[in-house]
Amino acid sequence: MTADPTSLITLACPHCEAVNRMPVDRLAAQPACGKCGGRLFAGEPFELDDSGLERHLRHNAVPLLVDFWAPWCGPCRMMAPVLAQMAGTVEPKVRIAKVNTDVAQVMAGQLNIRSIPTLILFHHGREIARQAGAMPGQQLLAWLRQALGE
Ligand SMILES: [Zn+2]
Repeated sequence: MTADPTSLITLACPHCEAVNRMPVDRLAAQPACGKCGGRLFAGEPFELDDSGLERHLRHNAVPLLVDFWAPWCGPCRMMAPVLAQMAGTVEPKVRIAKVNTDVAQVMAGQLNIRSIPTLILFHHGREIARQAGAMPGQQLLAWLRQALGE
């Protein structure tokens, strides 16, 4: 990403999926969606279906960590509070979304999700890291930092 603070980025809204365009330096200022007024960084993971995920990957100026899960999966339920807690601390550098693989079957197939939970970090629409299986928060944070090249 360019270091120019006025360069424009696009970011899909987690509430209404409208695509917002803004200077990159506004990311840290709790930007609101131009359409629905909701916070673009809500401080919690947001749910995406097939079309929502596809849209977010097209407007993916901020790295997006996606938790592929299903309601019947025990380890997934263990990951939920870990991710919920992480969302508030990693934003606005990273956003966290949840994709129910029972609902978003097309994207789960395209991304070749073989087991859940699977965590995938996307940036600029491309997969940059993948982790299969649950892990504790500290370990997850370390994995995330490494994936981001920190
Ligand atoms: Zn919105």
